[in-house]
Amino acid sequence: MPKEVTDVICPFCGTLCDDLIITVSDDNKTILGVKNACAIGAEKFNHQRLPGRVKRPRMRQADGTYKEVTYDEAIDWTAKMLVKSRKTLMYGWASTSCQAMSIGHEIAEKCGGIVDNCATVCHGSSLIAIEDVGVPSCTLGEIKNRADCVIFWGCNPAHAHPRHMSRYSIFPRGFFTVKGHKGRKIYCVDCRYTDTAKCADKFIQVQQGFDYELLNAFRTAVRGEALPDTVGGVPKEKIYEIAESFKTARFGIIFFGMGLTHTMGRNHNIDIAINLTRDMNEYTKFAIMAMRGHWNVTGSGQVLGWQYGFPYAVDVSRRDQARHQTGETTSVDLLNRNEVEACFYIATDPGAHFPVDAMISSSRKPTVTIDPHINCTTEISDIHIPVAMVGVETGGCAYRMDNVPIETRKVVEPPEGMLTDEELLTKINKRVDELLAKGGA
Ligand code: SF4
Repeated sequence: MPKEVTDVICPFCGTLCDDLIITVSDDNKTILGVKNACAIGAEKFNHQRLPGRVKRPRMRQADGTYKEVTYDEAIDWTAKMLVKSRKTLMYGWASTSCQAMSIGHEIAEKCGGIVDNCATVCHGSSLIAIEDVGVPSCTLGEIKNRADCVIFWGCNPAHAHPRHMSRYSIFPRGFFTVKGHKGRKIYCVDCRYTDTAKCADKFIQVQQGFDYELLNAFRTAVRGEALPDTVGGVPKEKIYEIAESFKTARFGIIFFGMGLTHTMGRNHNIDIAINLTRDMNEYTKFAIMAMRGHWNVTGSGQVLGWQYGFPYAVDVSRRDQARHQTGETTSVDLLNRNEVEACFYIATDPGAHFPVDAMISSSRKPTVTIDPHINCTTEISDIHIPVAMVGVETGGCAYRMDNVPIETRKVVEPPEGMLTDEELLTKINKRVDELLAKGGA
């Protein structure tokens, strides 16, 4: 008889919805149905039974084809690559567990690597701003229960975090928000009219690249000082009116996305958004939160943060110290400058996201990709090592976008003989130890 597993965590986006119901076959091997997830979350679970899923490591041959190898062979090849290379880029980590990350960092310390995560191409600038000026934030639970003024700035959760609005930010009824959507004022600031804008009470169309100026104008308007006639394409009357309505809110929240982090100004956009939030706390309660994308990219920042003091792009190639410098230790810059000798990708797909020049540079180096499925990066790697899907076929700790740690659940058994990220990294770590004890690869 098929059975239902309840309270399953969705391992797709930073919302980490925790109310999924998954129907599994009686032998505990196949997912038969997914309830409560959005379309992208459900797809993640459905990929567990993808026809043609790779179940054993594959090594690229001289003619470009792939040959199946054993896990032991793949582990030996990977450990030798790590030990031989003086500087290995160890990039990814956003879709695996915090436990796996900490084993990976141990390997990086022994072999002299650079550990970087997906923040390097998304919210890295937010993390720089937070290091500079701090962050007045809160949990998603507080937003559900208290927020009556919700601002989406440069983000589009209707597409990127589809259940965010129904679980936390727009529609749910909470302890102090009993009217749900009717009791909240929703603002959307974007240069385009997005699907999130359709749900907003007010859409503020900012001229592309003028977010900093508009945020600065809101700070000015909140203080009641003079503004020019328009700022970033928005008339001053509208800015004053909205600034006044922010002040009368009981609890306001600014959610921001890549529209702020990856437009002109970058970390300074976040810096001033945080300062606007801080100003608002002179009048009412206000908080700010980054819309983190990959489901455990926040966790990677947390683990790196408590181990080394930097949330991404951490260079431990000198063994005795950890360094971080945006532009110097960040993945794309390292690849563009041809500064690493090997690439180790795990739980990510830089082939789909990095600039083409960086991936051309990567494709010329010994490369290992650890991922449950075939993706753009596996196809330019020397070895692709498939692993169990974290949050589906094995559990592990993940951090939600509000920095709340949540233990993900194992729902079904992985394919027979397939290793989890933790098991694989533990074996690579052990092989690295053996090679180093012998004096090298
Ligand atoms: S909103 Fe995100 S976490 Fe929730 S079900 Fe959809 S993909 Fe999964």
